[in-house]
Amino acid sequence: MGFEVIGNRKQFDEAVHTLIQKPASNALWTFLNGNDIKFIVNIVDGPSEFGALLNGGLYHPTIMWNPQKDLAIFGRNRPEQQIQKSWRTVDGVPVRVETLKWVSKGDPKDEILPPYICLAHEMGHAKQYAENPALFTSLGTSESISNIEAIEAENLVMHEWPICLEHNFKVRVNYQDFRSR
Ligand SMILES: [Zn+2]
Repeated sequence: MGFEVIGNRKQFDEAVHTLIQKPASNALWTFLNGNDIKFIVNIVDGPSEFGALLNGGLYHPTIMWNPQKDLAIFGRNRPEQQIQKSWRTVDGVPVRVETLKWVSKGDPKDEILPPYICLAHEMGHAKQYAENPALFTSLGTSESISNIEAIEAENLVMHEWPICLEHNFKVRVNYQDFRSR
């Protein structure tokens, strides 16, 4: 069904035009236009974010997007998934534990992600919403914090990383790897 834009549509159209030149961004855009959900894009002065807003008894998946605001990150090259082995003591018995971890070699470099990448990040959340609306409408409950962490981690891996890399930007390995300016 696509997007209803509230505010200056020109900046949104320009950002989309830049995004859809590359395959992963284009696939995300095509997905969001190809289902029966109407997404609202609200052009704002404040921070960019995604939410499912309850209005008149219906949830409206809404992207708040600030076309002037970029995002400074500690940028790294493409991360790899590695198994991290460690020991933990359970009831006095040492147990070997293996966990999966995303790692990236080398020191992080300052990288500025432009507003259109921030829009793509929020579009990634819109896709997550389309795939699992209950996850978003449950935010605000006791599981909120861990749900938000899981949502952000998945959004990085599935959407933000491929989109950053195809537009020749470094990536943040963890959602928290940004800095305020
Ligand atoms: Zn996010």
